[in-house]
Amino acid sequence: MTSSPGNAFDLLIVGAGINGAGLARDAAGRGLKVLLVEQGDIAGATSSASTKLIHGGLRYLEHREFGLVRESLAEREALRAIAPHLVREQRFVIPHSPDQRPRWMIRLGLALYDGLARGSSLKRAEALALRGTPFGEPLRPAFTHGFAYSDLVTDDARLTLLNAFSAAQLGAQVRTRTRLVAARRAGAEWRAVLQAADGAQQECAARILVNAGGPWAAQLHRALSSGGATLRLVRGSHIVVPRRCAGEQAYLLQNDDRRIVFVIPFEGEFSLIGTTESTVDAPAAAQGAEADEVAYLCKAVSRYFAAPLDAARVVWSFSGIRGLFDDGREDASAVSRECRLLLEGGPGEPPLLSVFGGKLTTYRRLAERMLDTLGPWLPGLRPSWSAKVHLPGGGLGPGGLNGLLLELARRHPKLPPELLLDLARRHGTLAARVLGPAQTEAELGECFGGSLYAAEVDYMIANEWAREADDILWRRTKCGLKADEAARGRLAGYLSGKVTAAASSA
Ligand SMILES: Cc1cc2nc3c(=O)[nH]c(=O)nc-3n(C[C@H](O)[C@H](O)[C@H](O)COP(=O)(O)OP(=O)(O)OC[C@H]3O[C@@H](n4cnc5c(N)ncnc54)[C@H](O)[C@@H]3O)c2cc1C
Repeated sequence: MTSSPGNAFDLLIVGAGINGAGLARDAAGRGLKVLLVEQGDIAGATSSASTKLIHGGLRYLEHREFGLVRESLAEREALRAIAPHLVREQRFVIPHSPDQRPRWMIRLGLALYDGLARGSSLKRAEALALRGTPFGEPLRPAFTHGFAYSDLVTDDARLTLLNAFSAAQLGAQVRTRTRLVAARRAGAEWRAVLQAADGAQQECAARILVNAGGPWAAQLHRALSSGGATLRLVRGSHIVVPRRCAGEQAYLLQNDDRRIVFVIPFEGEFSLIGTTESTVDAPAAAQGAEADEVAYLCKAVSRYFAAPLDAARVVWSFSGIRGLFDDGREDASAVSRECRLLLEGGPGEPPLLSVFGGKLTTYRRLAERMLDTLGPWLPGLRPSWSAKVHLPGGGLGPGGLNGLLLELARRHPKLPPELLLDLARRHGTLAARVLGPAQTEAELGECFGGSLYAAEVDYMIANEWAREADDILWRRTKCGLKADEAARGRLAGYLSGKVTAAASSA
């Protein structure tokens, strides 16, 4: 096993989901020496398999989680300000179904939601007549009334990635495909053993160890501590189908089991539909949906939409696992989404901080809270800063995304507007770096499907830790939806050549 003096850190963070990446950014920006390790790809687990909402969580009001909803709504504004290229306002239509929650209850819930979002820049909720309107058009004629409200949608994997990218720009070391296999306390520090994908092991030292292992957090906690935290692992699946309706609206459908199913415009030509909810025994990286989950979602949609949906229409599916702190409740939907922090370490001992649960929406506040919790071990820590500084590519200026698009079109007049839009959404102002001097599609190199060209692949290898085809097709972009089998194979071949060349020149 090798170790070197450069392998000593203030903070070793295990897990580059949104919680680990968000903490790495915040801590590196406050001058701490940070190492972030991830056993797979950045956002390779839950943080690429969410519903992709930056939201207060309308249904958490039913469970009286007012504090969580208020904090999440405040974060909605913060993320809109720091990552305007990655979030956009989404209008949701709730078709009213008389056998579900009564109309007064929804009206009251929405008023409360808007009230808790004091000072919000999003459009307020309203009651709607659906018959003969574009919002009612795709629905069965029985749905004559409804409501509309607003939240934000994002790209969860890219949000996570940009936090890791920003952390690295601020001096953090980010090592993907590197697993923490063991750690022990040695005096005032942790000694950790890290294992790379090729099996090589390396030791590093850190003053503080953070367990941000998502669904693996309880497992990691048991390996690192004598305590025995338990997590309720709740799997949720989504399907992607050809677009269900014209227009930009999404739908929130109330289901018979009192759960809700979202139908959200996705990547232009598609709709994202989710989620299911079932308890599982073991954590796993993101996978596809099971047949019964697909059937459940198709049935929920067919109940509301005039055109029924069946499994044959599914072009992609994915599922993720929430690790919820087990508070002993029967119903998975009722277990709190509130995050739990567990700090362990006596006087003179290096601390272990574990994160259980949480939401994509609140990662930034969670990072602040984690550093506050670690305050006694971090004397003189600089104050919080992350609410005021754009994520990479987010400094769009007063013209917003449209302003950036105009500028890109001015500099690259021969490139198709749809390509520029995709790049602007993925990279914000950094799209200029991806494009470089290229003026034509041919100058961007080989096309691997949709708007994915070799120039962007090269950028992602150099700056975004991309190593395998899936890293790019399904996480850093969603071009997998448009790449056929042959294009995927060509991308895999291209990547293996590039990655091998990079490794041998390193
Ligand atoms: C179906 C579903 C829908 C959701 N929708 C939303 C939503 O719309 N909005 C919202 O705000 N929230 C949503 N959430 C919640 C949100 O997605 C999660 O709270 C969040 O992604 C969890 O992030 P994380 O960093 O804790 O975990 P993860 O993203 O799972 O990251 C943990 C990482 O730790 C790594 N790891 C584990 N063990 C080790 C080890 N030993 N060494 C190295 N690395 C290790 C794993 O590989 C993994 O990448 C949803 C969750 C689910 C499941």
